[in-house]
Amino acid sequence: METFVRTAIVTGANRGVGRGIAKQLVLLGYRTILTSRDELKGKLTVNELKEEIGTKLASNLVYHQLDVTDTESVKRLYDFVMDGYEAADILVNNAAVLLDQFGRIIQTPLETYQITMATNVYGPLLMCQTFLPMMMKRNYGRVVNVSSGAGQVENMVNDMTAYRLSKLALNGLTLMLADSVKGTNVLINAGCPGWVRTEMGSPDAPRSIEEGAKGIVWLATLPDDGPHGGFFRDGQLILVNIPPNNRVNDFKVSTNVPDRYSKIANPQVYARRY
Ligand code: NDP
Repeated sequence: METFVRTAIVTGANRGVGRGIAKQLVLLGYRTILTSRDELKGKLTVNELKEEIGTKLASNLVYHQLDVTDTESVKRLYDFVMDGYEAADILVNNAAVLLDQFGRIIQTPLETYQITMATNVYGPLLMCQTFLPMMMKRNYGRVVNVSSGAGQVENMVNDMTAYRLSKLALNGLTLMLADSVKGTNVLINAGCPGWVRTEMGSPDAPRSIEEGAKGIVWLATLPDDGPHGGFFRDGQLILVNIPPNNRVNDFKVSTNVPDRYSKIANPQVYARRY
């Protein structure tokens, strides 16, 4: 008897948190489509991961190219998924750029904002515009927008301004998307992995990729009565403006947040990084 296997898509998964998310999903038994904008890098990562996983589950790891800023590339992925697997059940919008580590609101060139928004906001939007109608039709879907504490309204300080603005917008986008699928079994949330040791996060970050990916994978694999329209880190709701009609009331707002997120008294120190 063939067992039913759900299909997941992870964007920007050739390295960092995305790679970690893809690995955990495969280990949980999901058919996982690892995507990357650079085909060579992505295929190398798939080969590495298959070695690491090293069991029958490795055959559930599939590769496809995807640049989230390229409409044709998104369409090719959609056709590949629909032809091969008939549907995608899980979409993890992980791909992002941080181009202005030390960027200031006035000095950072407009082009930096434009490229950042194109990847971090319009990329997830285009992915959702492409895949959500199918999920709604099938009445099943889990979408996670990988966001950042840097995008919380209370963290709008004068550094990494293009990145912050993009994650603020992504959190808003998550709420609008959640509202658009209300009443269906499609659950859409934003998740922050915390400060993670990746190329973006730097070797100074306190968290491993595995730790960072865990809370995102939880959101990607929620049961039908799971939360919807929230912004979470490590399974805990982060303070964010949440419309009352979203289904997050049962979830406690986090009081146990990592130190760099908790210095509310000093907004200059509060969430300096991601
Ligand atoms: P990395 O910079 O290590 O990896 C980013 C990934 O996104 C890479 O695979 C990169 O591909 C890919 N990417 C960039 N642009 C595109 C594009 N146009 N199309 C497809 N893929 C693209 O970042 P992290 O792994 O650290 O971050 C993952 C997510 O977690 C991001 O959304 C980030 O904002 C968020 N986050 C990270 C934190 C951290 O501390 N690391 C903290 C909070 C949030 P390529 O290799 O080709 O560049």
